[in-house]
Amino acid sequence: MLKEALKTAIVTGASGGIGGAVALRLARDGFAVVANYAGRSDAANAVVNEIIAGGGKAIAVNADVADAQAVADLFAAAKSTFGGCDVVVHCAGIMPLGQIADGDLALFDKVIAVNLRGTYVVLAQAARDVAPGGRIIALSSSVLAKSFPGYGPYIASKAGVEGLVHVLANELRGRNITVNAVAPGPVATPLFLSGKTQAQIDELAKVPPLQRLGQPDDIAHVVSFLAGPDGAWMNSQVLRANGGFA
Ligand code: NDP
Repeated sequence: MLKEALKTAIVTGASGGIGGAVALRLARDGFAVVANYAGRSDAANAVVNEIIAGGGKAIAVNADVADAQAVADLFAAAKSTFGGCDVVVHCAGIMPLGQIADGDLALFDKVIAVNLRGTYVVLAQAARDVAPGGRIIALSSSVLAKSFPGYGPYIASKAGVEGLVHVLANELRGRNITVNAVAPGPVATPLFLSGKTQAQIDELAKVPPLQRLGQPDDIAHVVSFLAGPDGAWMNSQVLRANGGFA
């Protein structure tokens, strides 16, 4: 699908660790990239500048993924700048932790708003705008299988993401658009590292048989496969990219 006209990819959370690596990889694969961010314009602009310095095309666009109008504007920017949208990779997400017994509804509502409502908003706009032959990819998490204490709101949000991916794949029957999720294990980004002691990080890094943390590029490789020609037959799947963190 990459051989003919320039294809465009929208990457949400491109100011973050995984989203930034995905944006850079898809640019190397030949996509024009719309790099979305929420707060860190400097990080998003660094990704855009690196893409442009490498001969690619990219713009940075601010949007809160839970805000339907902002997401509509994000997709409109892809259309006005690059002529449309072929691939959407929804990487934006947050992971504040809290025990269920705390009953911290502010925390729960925030996680659900960004991770689940945000996914619903982005998938809804993607379902309307992605061109035939396109790909929609959301980020879940391998921590679903672990049920670690403190991960209740986050796991609830990502279980919802996986549900939405399977339903949307069915709803897009006949459009030749695939919908998949990538569910990383621990990846060395601020989302995973912040708030953890070195001992906690070392312990989690030892869980997969490959005995290391994932790196953002490990996830970008999988996204590149799903977004590229070789991923065409993958649909309604959750790829647990985790080094065996099961
Ligand atoms: P980072 O913390 O490095 O990046 C998070 C990104 O999400 C940033 O670009 C941030 O934007 C963006 N973001 C946060 N809130 C919003 C919002 N309301 N609207 C738009 N963008 C927002 O995290 P990762 O790169 O590690 O995570 C990427 C995805 O991968 C997430 O969905 C996460 O749940 C998932 N994941 C991560 C794992 C890990 O171990 N790191 C493991 C499994 C899944 P800004 O910085 O501009 O505010």
